[in-house]
Amino acid sequence: VASQETYRQLREEIERIVGPQNVVQNVPVPEVHDMVFFYGEKEQKPEFFVLPTSSQQVSEIMKLANENVVNVVPWGGGTDRYPGAVTAPKGSIVLCTQKMTRIIDLDETDQIAVVQAGITVQALNRELRKRNLWWPHDPESKDNATAGGSIAINGIGTYFCKYGSARDMTLGLTIVLPDGRVIKVGRRVAHSITGYDLVRLFTGSEGTLGVIVEATIRLDRIPEERGFSIIRFKTIEDATKACSNLLDSGVRPEVLFVEDSERFRYNVTASDPLAESSTISTLQGMGAVVMVSVAGSKGYVGPNSSIVQTFLTQSGGQLVMEERLKKAWWKTKTSLTFEIPQNLKGEGIATKIGVVDVAIPLGTVSWWNERYRESMDRYRLFPGGLRVYITPNHDAILSAVVLFNELDQNETRKYLSWVEELSKLAVDIGGTMTSNLGVGAKLVGLVDYELNEVGTLAKDFKKLIDPHNIMNRGKKLSASNVQQPELAST
Ligand SMILES: Cc1cc2nc3c(=O)[nH]c(=O)nc-3n(C[C@H](O)[C@H](O)[C@H](O)COP(=O)(O)OP(=O)(O)OC[C@H]3O[C@@H](n4cnc5c(N)ncnc54)[C@H](O)[C@@H]3O)c2cc1C
Repeated sequence: VASQETYRQLREEIERIVGPQNVVQNVPVPEVHDMVFFYGEKEQKPEFFVLPTSSQQVSEIMKLANENVVNVVPWGGGTDRYPGAVTAPKGSIVLCTQKMTRIIDLDETDQIAVVQAGITVQALNRELRKRNLWWPHDPESKDNATAGGSIAINGIGTYFCKYGSARDMTLGLTIVLPDGRVIKVGRRVAHSITGYDLVRLFTGSEGTLGVIVEATIRLDRIPEERGFSIIRFKTIEDATKACSNLLDSGVRPEVLFVEDSERFRYNVTASDPLAESSTISTLQGMGAVVMVSVAGSKGYVGPNSSIVQTFLTQSGGQLVMEERLKKAWWKTKTSLTFEIPQNLKGEGIATKIGVVDVAIPLGTVSWWNERYRESMDRYRLFPGGLRVYITPNHDAILSAVVLFNELDQNETRKYLSWVEELSKLAVDIGGTMTSNLGVGAKLVGLVDYELNEVGTLAKDFKKLIDPHNIMNRGKKLSASNVQQPELAST
């Protein structure tokens, strides 16, 4: 940590670059995000937040931070709290892109846009809708999640099964490197083997290699119609097998999820509390539910929806006919309405949602689900249920949720041990410990368990691009020259 005098001078120089009104003590995150366990919240003590308005300003700020060897935490909406991706400890400055919100270029013919990093996914799609276009990345946090943050974390959304992750919808990036140089990577086409694939290196790099200031993104036409079905199954195994076969059938779903009955019930009742009893009777004797939609032109959707329904019912599923449940589930999935169950709210209780976001081969989901259930009992954590994003290449991206009281240190410790156990379990069966929320500060102590010797190469990359280690220090990669927080501490 540099001296107070260094920070005072740095602040003054940065104020000269961006104007004093754009250097502030905090940029709040909307209250709704308080339900999430914010890893490292207690250490959140940045020196100040700076809100640049142009790439040139970002470049000048980075030059100063580099000269002074000051840690910079890039910050979009500040919503990636589960893994502590936006934790900014003492001595850091936060570089927030929320004033960089312009759509710089919109090419309707080729369906490509160039946007500043700080535009939120919601605001971007509101503008694009006027031209019958959208960026089909749709995280639940879209009101606040920015394009830059989504790309930096390589996030996933509701329509992942058809369009892939934020990375798959990104053609190019303009990046300010730690020393202030501005580089452009990628083209206006997705497929290229000229040089190395630096777009992929920077997407998912969690703000540890540079600041994304602009993104060239691939857009799509908004589908004319959507056919959405819910099909219940006896077990998670039956449901995942049926989905795997569906992927091989030639149909191209845009949404394909399996949820256990707990998660389904919470999702429906979060949007429509009065639907509780009808949800319970729908789920009687059923362990899992498949949510699937196809979308496209009018002529495509009707026949393909019928094929999907026939296929899944012939695989042992039963169609859920109640429109009310369908509407409620859809609403919760496409907005931020998850509710803490009533019985976990109470005086002196600060119930938080914790999660693991491992990805594993589809065939191992049922086995992994048994371990998840068993671990929940052993750790005595309250299960919030399991959701499986089924990917077109037969991976399963899991969102396994628990709820616990963060004011009880023992509960928090149990949660972090639980994360460690399940993350390692995913790695042991050929999967990965994080698929979309990021390593952040929470998983950094575990990363070498997955990376092995490749971790050294990754650190070499990092050193080459960020020799003073000023970008999001202490996150993403374990670094021998940096004190890492222990996983089991908050
Ligand atoms: C309730 C809830 C629901 C969520 N649902 C989803 C979901 O459905 N899908 C999903 O993928 N995620 C989800 N998330 C996680 C989070 O919202 C996403 O990762 C989101 O895309 C982060 O965007 P952001 O702008 O808030 O980034 P931030 O949280 O501000 O930052 C995320 C990471 O990217 C870095 N970063 C941010 N901007 C830049 C930049 N311009 N250049 C370089 N690095 C940068 C940060 O340093 C940090 O490491 C959810 C989170 C919550 C709390």
